[in-house]
Amino acid sequence: MKRLAALAIVASALASASVHANQTDASPAPGAAPSAPGGAGGALRITRVGSLPSTKGAADYFTGSVRVDPLFPATAPSRTSGGNVTFEPGARTAWHTHPLGQTLVVAAGLGWVQQWGGPVEEIRPGDVVWIPPGVKHWHGATPTTGMAHVAITDHLDGRVAEWMEKVTDEQYRR
Ligand code: MN
Repeated sequence: MKRLAALAIVASALASASVHANQTDASPAPGAAPSAPGGAGGALRITRVGSLPSTKGAADYFTGSVRVDPLFPATAPSRTSGGNVTFEPGARTAWHTHPLGQTLVVAAGLGWVQQWGGPVEEIRPGDVVWIPPGVKHWHGATPTTGMAHVAITDHLDGRVAEWMEKVTDEQYRR
């Protein structure tokens, strides 16, 4: 009960802070021109699910069955793109690096990720993995359970990854 009471106080404080922020934001000076729809950067964009076709993970860069569902391309000046990658059991990327790093948000199943020279680590839905720029690594499903993650990656000169050798069956174990 103590914990619940504390949470209620935190929630109430957050709600109060949010109300105050809204009041500040939503109270333009009398006579001020309303801001243009979308502001200086144009209108927001909703990319509808199903509007971008699924593709297969290229055999040169993946082992096993991998589906890539593009979520969003990089829109300048942003250099960030996102995709949902689904690995069947046993499927994984080849070893690779990212010039500006990568964030993985595990969405389903059970996966493995490994940095060169490090242990194979288990990743589960809700886990977030940050891969620093230039760090050699791979990610994928476990041998018996598939895994899906959202991959968020920045490109540098149009490149998001440098691909290397495949992850051998010897390396793919825990
Ligand atoms: Mn990666």
